[in-house]
Amino acid sequence: MMSRAPLATSRNCAWLCSILACLASGAVAAAAPAEPADGAALHAWEGGDDPQSLDRWVHAHLRRADADVARVLAVKGTHTLANTLRPYDDAINELALATNQASVLYGVGGTKELRDKAQALTQQANAASTALSLNQPVYRTLAALAATGDAATRHYLERTLLEYRLAGVDRDEATRAKVKALQDKITELGLAFERAVHDDVRTVVAAKGQLDGLPPDYLAAHPADAEGHVKITTDPPDAWPAEKFAGDAKLRHDLFLAADTVGYPANGETLRALLTARLELAQLLGYPTWADFAMADQMMGSPARLREYLQKIDDASREPAAREAAALLAFAREREPALTQISDADARYWQELYRRAKYNFDSQSVRPYFPYAAIERGVIATASRLFRIDIRPVSGVRTWHPSVTSYDVYDGNVRLGRIYLDMHPREGKDKWFSTQPLTLGVHGRQLPEGTLVCNFPGGTAGDPGLMQYGDVVIFLHEFGHLMHHLIGGQNPYAGEAAFNVEGDFVEAPSQMLEEFFHDYGVLASFAHHYQSGAALPRELYERMIRADTYGRASGQQRQLMYAAVSLDFHTLPPATLDFDAVYRHNFERFSSDAFVPGDHMWASFTHLNGYSSNYYTYVLDKVIALDFFAQFDPRDLLGGPVGLRYRQAVLAPGATQPAAQLVRDFLGREPNLDAYRRWMLAEFDAASTVSSAAR
Ligand SMILES: [Zn+2]
Repeated sequence: MMSRAPLATSRNCAWLCSILACLASGAVAAAAPAEPADGAALHAWEGGDDPQSLDRWVHAHLRRADADVARVLAVKGTHTLANTLRPYDDAINELALATNQASVLYGVGGTKELRDKAQALTQQANAASTALSLNQPVYRTLAALAATGDAATRHYLERTLLEYRLAGVDRDEATRAKVKALQDKITELGLAFERAVHDDVRTVVAAKGQLDGLPPDYLAAHPADAEGHVKITTDPPDAWPAEKFAGDAKLRHDLFLAADTVGYPANGETLRALLTARLELAQLLGYPTWADFAMADQMMGSPARLREYLQKIDDASREPAAREAAALLAFAREREPALTQISDADARYWQELYRRAKYNFDSQSVRPYFPYAAIERGVIATASRLFRIDIRPVSGVRTWHPSVTSYDVYDGNVRLGRIYLDMHPREGKDKWFSTQPLTLGVHGRQLPEGTLVCNFPGGTAGDPGLMQYGDVVIFLHEFGHLMHHLIGGQNPYAGEAAFNVEGDFVEAPSQMLEEFFHDYGVLASFAHHYQSGAALPRELYERMIRADTYGRASGQQRQLMYAAVSLDFHTLPPATLDFDAVYRHNFERFSSDAFVPGDHMWASFTHLNGYSSNYYTYVLDKVIALDFFAQFDPRDLLGGPVGLRYRQAVLAPGATQPAAQLVRDFLGREPNLDAYRRWMLAEFDAASTVSSAAR
């Protein structure tokens, strides 16, 4: 999961992207920044938890953006890159700072008052971006520059002009005013949708006996009260292990429903209003649906092309997924003969038992090798070797919470930027896992900074934070985004930042890094037992990987379900859209599990805000990521030359080239499904290997 960038933000909605800059850049000696006279320090959180301080900070940056726009429009005589594109990009930079940091604090701010203020300011900053995207004099000025500069600069200009046209800049004044009002409304509703999810933590009260099956450290962290009751919240570190390991079907069911009713029913009304505003905006700009509008500037191009593509993925995954499901059901029926279908609430539980039985792999057995602190060091070390960079801890950095850690990223002696890790849950904090830019990079002037906002186990004294292997994969995924932002943030213009590449490419670098989890050499270098210090045994690793390959095709069908829900919600008429019925229809189309009555997952599906109709991004980019990964030498993943080539061809260009070009440059051809099919079918190969080895 991640975010979108300045102009794109105003079209597709309110995700983040921010900017923070830091000290000096590159080889220039670093000097601590003095507080600017206008109060526009680089970091919004320097004012602590005071909402008024944040308010002043955001407005200082918005004023700077206004001043930059005024410079664009004040040019007399010939427009040049220096007197026009540069100040325009400065405005983009200021708006990104305001939007991204307000947006981050809305998710992680220390008090409710601060988060409320940050939410309102995120709306205001987005509104300022929308206003710029509808500014005709600025558009005409940039259009006059169109064929100027090197290829990267021309691409930046062309893409900016495309975004302007998509924003409706060339419409009459009344239309533009309407566009502006709708954009602001979309931002507001999107934030309200997400906020309702953040703030809606539900609790299931379990009897102590219902927790049988859960690991000892989980039980120790969840002591029963005087009545023998244990409270389990819907926060991922609380709910996920219980849904997977608890032997008690009622507890699993109650937790599943609690998690899948977060945001319900309140978000029904918000979502309908959001979809209505999006449709109205799309039609105002000449598109039949929001999905047509939202794909017009993406690699995919249109919903029609998307449907074709999703059909290809369905063709590749449906039959293997059915085989996986049949094997799971047969297994479950050996234990519960009356079972005719596995409930979605029980799917993770049965998959876990199946993996134990078929692959002799108990996912709890690896958790002691995945204590949070060692995993953090390991992920950092892996990325450092792969991309030939240094990631060094920095102390004494002021952040928004004492638990947040900071690192500087170096290429040799050249500092590339700063990253922050905000990795454990706390009250009022965003419940999901994301990467968010804080500052965009502007070569020679400002370094990119970004943060992970995650909810992993650990973070409290005495808790080793033993992670599940899925958690480690998520960590790698988000770190892939972070590296993309840092390495792709070294270009001359803020608007060329990595996340400004086509939105449906951004999940490729993240999913590519996930694959490094599957290499023993990589894992054993950091997965050490939290008590004994022993490395993850090879034999345990092999069982884990075989077990991990089970369920890949079903997982892809699940992704197709989410993609279809997102697409349907943004193509069907919102006034009559029955969220429950459309969700259930797609669920049953792509899943063999029994739908759980009362499941309103869509009400907490925050991707409907961030990705709108374009959830397909994950599926498209999985295919690309696996194609990328197949280029690495499996005998020497980190040591070979491919990591550096990947960094240079795919990450470093940021948004200076079309995404399809980055893909072709690295692969030397168009992407295809070969590696994806091999990855998905590995289960059956692995299963046959296991059975022949074990019997
Ligand atoms: Zn992601």
